[in-house]
Amino acid sequence: MVGRTLINVAIIGGGPGGLGTAIALSQLPFVQVSLYEKNPEPREAGAGISLSTNAWKVLDLLGASNGVKGGSKANTHQRNAHTGTILSVVPSPENSKADSRGAIRARRTRLQSALLSRVPEGIIRYDKKLIHLEDLANDGVRLVFHDQTETVADLVVGADGIQSEPISQIVRRTLLPNHHLSFTGTIAWRVIVPKANLAHISDITSFTSWWWGETGHVYFSDVDDDSEETPHFEITVRGYREPEIPGKTVVWGVPATNDRVESRVEKYDQRIKDAVNVVPEGAWREFAMFAGPRLDRIIGWENKVALIGDASHPLSGAFGSGATFAMEDGWILARALEYTQSLSLPVGDALEIFNTIRSPYYARMYEHLDESEERLRKAREETKSFDEFLRAKIKYFLYGDKDFIYKNDIQKVWKDYIEAVGRH
Ligand SMILES: Cc1cc2nc3c(=O)[nH]c(=O)nc-3n(C[C@H](O)[C@H](O)[C@H](O)COP(=O)(O)OP(=O)(O)OC[C@H]3O[C@@H](n4cnc5c(N)ncnc54)[C@H](O)[C@@H]3O)c2cc1C
Repeated sequence: MVGRTLINVAIIGGGPGGLGTAIALSQLPFVQVSLYEKNPEPREAGAGISLSTNAWKVLDLLGASNGVKGGSKANTHQRNAHTGTILSVVPSPENSKADSRGAIRARRTRLQSALLSRVPEGIIRYDKKLIHLEDLANDGVRLVFHDQTETVADLVVGADGIQSEPISQIVRRTLLPNHHLSFTGTIAWRVIVPKANLAHISDITSFTSWWWGETGHVYFSDVDDDSEETPHFEITVRGYREPEIPGKTVVWGVPATNDRVESRVEKYDQRIKDAVNVVPEGAWREFAMFAGPRLDRIIGWENKVALIGDASHPLSGAFGSGATFAMEDGWILARALEYTQSLSLPVGDALEIFNTIRSPYYARMYEHLDESEERLRKAREETKSFDEFLRAKIKYFLYGDKDFIYKNDIQKVWKDYIEAVGRH
């Protein structure tokens, strides 16, 4: 594929990663891009999403920052979920002077709308669930959809996440048949409710707060700013020691009963129970966390397929920045294609560059998680009380140095790469 005038790219999945990639690639005149989404219309499961300086950087590059707004995350309270004791009040570490917008928690639908508004018309095909893909060697990749239509693409971007239904993770599973995800034992239940409905409960709506328990935690946060007519508030309940899910199907955004969620907070502070009681039946959504062996390489089939976002590295919400990682992946892929096209290099070289830049970044995240896990293990052994343990956990696990994530400047990453290759 040297010197081709038009590269035909198929993106599978319309989450933040797929949409970000569609925006970045549609700006390249030599790329013809199509995005295939299994849902019949835009759909976003989940409640709020944290956006930090790294998110603003990539959203600015995609021209999609406008309209993304939410609640501030400054002054986060950390508490013992059983006793309510305040363990620390921490200004958000991501509140960088480099970007006055700082860290916010926004409704997921806002991010989705902002991205959708930047995808040129005619690119997204809804109700197109990919069920099969096949390597056609020099002729590209054949894609077959559930409605029996098919197409051939020069490049496939797997942005299909890890979501439910038996045929999920189709691109990664076809590319890497021996790579399996397994249930981590953690489930999150998430909801957003009108903030006014929680106003009668003391200490819940005044700050972003984490309430840490023995077998889980609860998170409360604004997802709207003051300009909203009916500001909403997020509640996430997490259980760490949940039983194995029969059939190991990924459960993602499915409704959960109030009884199920309430049973997870029975041993917690009354304020948590009161807040959870406010949620109307049918509003909770359940997300089971799955993870698998880490991937060293996120491209395949002789560089015709690239995996981005959760499809390559499902981090189960660790770092609270997965949507940004997915968008950064797409932006870098676009830069790499632009670069190889300008030098009349094969398209496959662009994927190699994408892998060279992004795989070590993901590896660094996993190193950080391993380190935190080890520190946590030590803290469990060395601390004498639960509060003492929680303080150690908060210090190392939550507020260890994560500037490489929250302040990541993806444009600078690309510039540094170009400078480095120029020197060789
Ligand atoms: C509890 C929790 C909290 C989190 N908090 C944050 C946070 O605060 N900030 C943050 O940035 N991230 C957070 N994340 C992570 C974030 O949600 C993900 O990293 C992000 O959504 C990944 O985006 P994606 O585009 O890769 O995949 P997804 O968002 O999963 O999108 C995948 C898309 O592919 C589609 N699809 C799937 N299969 C097919 C198919 N066969 N054919 C066609 N389409 C298909 C799906 O319908 C979907 O639209 C959190 C995650 C969890 C679980």
